[in-house]
Amino acid sequence: MALIVHKYGGTSMGSTERIKNVAKRVAKWHDAGHQIVVVPSAMSGETNRLLGLAKEISEQPDPRELDMLASTGEQASVALLAMALQAIGKQAVSYAGWQVPIKTDSSYTKARIRSIDDAKVRRDLDAGKVVIITGFQGVNDDGDITTLGRGGSDTSAVAVAAALKAAECLIYTDVDGVYTTDPRVVSEARRLKTVTFEEMLEMASLGSKVLQIRSVEFAGNYKMPTRVLSSLTDPLMPLEEESVSGTLISFEEDTKMEQATITGIAFNRDETKITVLGVPDRPGIAYQILGAVADANIEVDMIIQNQSVDGKTDFTFTVPRGEYTKAMDVLNDKVKANIGAASITGDAKVSKVSVVGVGMRSHVGIASQMFRTLSEEGINIQMISTSEIKISVLIDEKYMELAVRALHKAFGLENA
Ligand code: ADP
Ligand code: ASP
Ligand code: MG
Repeated sequence: MALIVHKYGGTSMGSTERIKNVAKRVAKWHDAGHQIVVVPSAMSGETNRLLGLAKEISEQPDPRELDMLASTGEQASVALLAMALQAIGKQAVSYAGWQVPIKTDSSYTKARIRSIDDAKVRRDLDAGKVVIITGFQGVNDDGDITTLGRGGSDTSAVAVAAALKAAECLIYTDVDGVYTTDPRVVSEARRLKTVTFEEMLEMASLGSKVLQIRSVEFAGNYKMPTRVLSSLTDPLMPLEEESVSGTLISFEEDTKMEQATITGIAFNRDETKITVLGVPDRPGIAYQILGAVADANIEVDMIIQNQSVDGKTDFTFTVPRGEYTKAMDVLNDKVKANIGAASITGDAKVSKVSVVGVGMRSHVGIASQMFRTLSEEGINIQMISTSEIKISVLIDEKYMELAVRALHKAFGLENA
C-alpha cells in the first residue's frame, strides 16, 4: 500500500463524462489498496472564461479579486469529482486550498506555496476516504484566496505529494507523456520514457507547458518521483501497465550522457524584444536600464549589449508580452532622458526556440548545427543565449513552427 497523488488537468476534467472516468480510474487505484489524494484543475476553458469575464468588466482588474474569481473553477471540479466517486460507492471528501490549508505568500495571481498542513488529509486517508484538493490555489496569512499562476495545478499536486511524503505523483493529462517537442506542432514528436529533472526544468522554463516550472522545482527539491501520463486511456486498464506508462522524471543525471545530444525542443511565443539605442558606453548603464525595469517588477530574460561605436552602444533585452507596454512606458518615462539614449524601439512579435539536452555537455558542435539548420531555412537569429544544457534563439514569430520542425528533424529526434 502506498500514498499516491493524482493530478488531472483541464481536458481530463473537461466534461461530466470525463469526470466519471477520472472517478473510475481513482477508484481502481484505491481498490488496489493505495491511499489516494487527487488534485484536479478546473474544467477545460473555465479559467479562461472566468478571466475573460473579468476583462469585460475592467482593463486592470484588482489581482485579489481576480484570484477570488479564478479559483472558483477548481472549487467546482473538486466537488463534482467527489460526487462522482461517491456515486460509485467510494468515500470521498473535497477541500478548497484554504480548508487544508495550503498557505501561500500574498503575490496574487502568482503566489508561492509556503506550507501545507497534512493533518486533515491524513485523518481522512486513514478513515479510508479519497481526498480531493483544489489545484491552483491557496490562502495567504490574511485568509485571502491566492492562485499560483496559469498551469499551477501541477505545482499544487507535486507540493501536496511532497508534504504528504507520497510515494509518487502522477500527472494525468491529454498527452501520454513528455515528448521531444509539443506533439501539436510536430506530429513526428516522440514520447520520452524518461527525462532528467534538469532537462524537464529547462523545457518547462523555456515554454513547454506540459508541466508548470514550479512543479518541476518541487519535484527536484523533494526528489518526488513524478510521472506524466494520459488520462484519456481506458480508466480500467491494468494498473501494472498504467503505472509504468508515460514519462518519468528521473534524478539520475549521468545515465544519458553518452546518448543523443539533444533531448527536446521547447518554444515560447510569449516574448517581446526591446532595444535602447545610442546609449553612452559607460559603467552603470545596464544597471540604470534594467534596474528600472526590475523595480517595475518586470522579468527580463535574454540580454545583449553591442560593441560601442564612438562611445555609443545599443542595449537589447526581452520581456514577456504581458509586460511589454509597461516596460516601454518605464523606459520612455524614467530612463531615456536620464541616460541620454537616442531612442527606444521594440518588437512584440518574436518567439524563442530552444534545444535542450544534458548530452550537450559531452558533445561539441550543437550550436553550429542549430545555426546551420536555421540558416538553411532562411531564418534570421536576433538573439542567442546558452547554458550548459540548452541553446536558445530569438526569431521572428512567423518562423517559429518552421524552426521547431526543422530542428526536430536536424537533430534526428523522431527516430533517435
Ligand atoms: P493539463 O490541462 O492537463 O494541465 P496542459 O495543456 O497544461 O494540460 O499541458 C499539456 C499540453 O502540453 C499538451 O496537450 C501539449 O500540447 C503541450 N506540450 C507542450 N510541449 C510538450 C511536450 N514537450 N511534451 C508533451 N506535451 C507538450
Ligand atoms: N485552471 C488553471 C489554469 O487554467 C490551473 C491549471 O489548470 O493548472 O491555468
Ligand atoms: Mg497544465
